[in-house]
Amino acid sequence: MSDSRTRRYLIETWGCQMNQHDSEKLAGILTALGYAPASNAGEADLILLNTCSIREKAESKVFDRLGRLRRLKVDNPDLILGVVGCVAQQAGEGIFRRAPYVDLVMGPRNLSQLGQLIDQARREGHSIGLARDDDPIDFSSTTTGRAAGPKAFVTVMEGCNKACTYCIVPFTRGREIYRPHAEILREIRELAAMGYIEIELLGQNVNAYHDGAHDLASLLHMSDRIPGVRRVRFTTSHPGHLKQGIMDAMRTVPTVCNHLHLPAQSGSDRVLASMNRGYTRARYLSKIDHLKKTIPNMAFSTDIIVGFPGETEADFDRSLTLLRDVEYDQVYAFTYSPRPGTVAPGLASALPENVKQARLQELLALQESIQLRRNRDLVGRSFEVLIEGSGRLDNGLLKGRTRCNRIVHTLGPAHRGDLVEVRITRAHAHSLIGEIPQSSGPA
Ligand code: SAM
Ligand code: SF4
Repeated sequence: MSDSRTRRYLIETWGCQMNQHDSEKLAGILTALGYAPASNAGEADLILLNTCSIREKAESKVFDRLGRLRRLKVDNPDLILGVVGCVAQQAGEGIFRRAPYVDLVMGPRNLSQLGQLIDQARREGHSIGLARDDDPIDFSSTTTGRAAGPKAFVTVMEGCNKACTYCIVPFTRGREIYRPHAEILREIRELAAMGYIEIELLGQNVNAYHDGAHDLASLLHMSDRIPGVRRVRFTTSHPGHLKQGIMDAMRTVPTVCNHLHLPAQSGSDRVLASMNRGYTRARYLSKIDHLKKTIPNMAFSTDIIVGFPGETEADFDRSLTLLRDVEYDQVYAFTYSPRPGTVAPGLASALPENVKQARLQELLALQESIQLRRNRDLVGRSFEVLIEGSGRLDNGLLKGRTRCNRIVHTLGPAHRGDLVEVRITRAHAHSLIGEIPQSSGPA
């Protein structure tokens, strides 16, 4: 590559919002280093796969993708191919053994070393940056290359101190480390000044946040006072850390949205104990009930694992009844996937894949019917919708979200970033269609 040409990068992202936001941070660092985005892999001088290792399938997709990218190294020997994120942290040097053409491996706590690692890879052929569990993290946000508004992610903490028996996150993202509240608020102020009006606070265990002086409840109160901020969300919450103060803040702080993602994982107390989740179904439901009773139109989503080792038909049935009891607006359901280093694979014998798949399909079908019924009840009602941009289909419809996180498509008239009242005219299981009454404009 000639030095006079601007170098181009491509980042491919798998996994959760934390990974999406890490990719924004990587993009910001690369922009500061003089790189410009590439529109496809063939045009890139640097390709980073920002990976997820939560399930085996996510991990094997990374190696499939690497195999397909390999040929680009033949055409462009200067191309730097990097694996970053959770697979990088977990597999480490093993990535070079399995895919020797990879140049750079970097864990999720090492993002600020990206520039150094690229230089080293160019000089020495390969580089690796992995953090230990208790290594400090540079939370600096000044170089974040964010997606266009109106919504912005803000990291409040990294890592997870829980020990759910199925989960690899504590191994890949390390122990919890909390960002000082003043830094978080400074970032939100800057984002609001740039026109971002919805803020989503991020952490693997976000409601465990405390920096010595402040917890998540006080962060919600303080974010609310920042001019320009219209909506605040936070994810992912652990049911055990959903303390009264946070539930009170959800009820009293005007900008906090009436939606909560609260992963249950299972509806069976026996399975919850075996997962080491630290709560019972009754305790989980008491928090859901409290929020339903105190916050109008409160909406919930959750994560459920089906086919956990030793899960009986009766246990699985408890997960189905949990869905019926709560009436979630969205459920992210996964078949259990054994992960290296975790306790769960040794707890009981694994369920056959066909049993796991059949349970997954049954659970998803039940949830589909619940969502469709709940969404049909909304036809004729009006909601405040924040317009995020065009929908995925090329049909001229705009896509936005209600405060309770339902997706709404509308023809407009409206623009990205507008807050508009939309009257719901049609309902699908996963989205709503609505119209903006003539007299109503941006709020
Ligand atoms: N911290 C969150 C919590 O406590 O629920 C979860 C974060 S994890 C990145 C996202 C989801 O992946 C989990 O809620 C769980 O449902 C799912 N998950 C994690 N490990 C899994 C495994 N081994 N097999 C299947 N699903 C898994
Ligand atoms: Fe994984 Fe449990 Fe931590 Fe969530 S709380 S990231 S499921 S160990």
